[in-house]
Amino acid sequence: MGPGDPRFRLQARKLNILFASTKEKPEFWFPLLQKLLPNDRFFGWPDSNGGDIDAAIVATHPKGALGGLPKLKLIQSLWMGVENIVADPDLPRGVPVARLIDPGMVAAMGETAIAYVLDWHRHFFCYRSFKNQKIWKRRRQYLASDRTVGILGMGELGSTVAQKLRAMGFNVAGFSRGPKQLDGVYCSTDLEEVARRSDALICLLPLTEKTRGIIDSKILSLVKKDGCLINLARGGHVIMPDLLAALEAGHLAHAYLDVFEIEPLPADSPLWAHPGITLTPHIAALTEPRTSVGKIAENIERIRRGEKPLNTVDFAAGY
Ligand code: NAP
Repeated sequence: MGPGDPRFRLQARKLNILFASTKEKPEFWFPLLQKLLPNDRFFGWPDSNGGDIDAAIVATHPKGALGGLPKLKLIQSLWMGVENIVADPDLPRGVPVARLIDPGMVAAMGETAIAYVLDWHRHFFCYRSFKNQKIWKRRRQYLASDRTVGILGMGELGSTVAQKLRAMGFNVAGFSRGPKQLDGVYCSTDLEEVARRSDALICLLPLTEKTRGIIDSKILSLVKKDGCLINLARGGHVIMPDLLAALEAGHLAHAYLDVFEIEPLPADSPLWAHPGITLTPHIAALTEPRTSVGKIAENIERIRRGEKPLNTVDFAAGY
């Protein structure tokens, strides 16, 4: 293939790439991206090269960052959740939005989910409180096979968590929009049925019009007594007063919350001091540059070749 060949021109075409994020730092990502895409030019918002941009890499992008980019061919998220991008009124029509499917992030989510399931299953949340009160008391031991963990959302993250829990001997019930099959897992599109079977419920759904507020008093009441809720997806999935009522009534033993409707969680939130809640600052799975930068570069190369990028959002479904 020589310079006269159209494929050569396509491959050699330099792309202008905008990095627009209020959360991720361009000075951190640029050297990693430049190593894999040495011929391309990178711009950090608000410098958008006078609108001459081929691809935008975003994570909670600044307002207006995606408007006025007529040559845009790809919006690549640095995160797996894309509700902020989908809801942007400036989102250019027809430009594909790609989620980041990062193996490092998937692995991290598996570890977080298992840590929380075991914390509840082995009563560690309870022993921490006993320790503070100098109480020497044993609680009943359960086998993993005595427990069913319900997973809401059986996508990249949910299905990985399901397989890890199965390997540890837990029963798993998974809820998804469309029918699924996963070895050894009870899969259903009936949320109430999954909740009814569950001792612990893990939320790994995308936040969409259909899933906002999906975990309410009804669903929580169906989870077995002394169970727990583990929300690793988005704060908007849970009706918080309903969760607090389920904890206060003693129906749920504990809740593990990594995500909140308002982040950072305000200092005056009662959740900070609630004894029935373990909370973390949206760290269940962070984008791992070492395992994700290649995935971003792969999508950039795809648009350079005029191919469809991978892992694009279905706008009708909202995820
Ligand atoms: P995904 O691959 O798109 O999977 C989403 C799953 O949810 C699919 O199984 C889908 O069903 C199901 N679903 C969507 N809408 C539904 C509905 N209305 N009813 C029933 N099921 C529905 O997503 P993912 O990559 O696993 O990520 C899930 C979410 O995790 C992200 O959107 C993000 O918000 C969150 N997240 C959080 C962190 C953190 O650190 N806390 C990190 C990464 C991601 P189908 O299989 O039928 O399509």
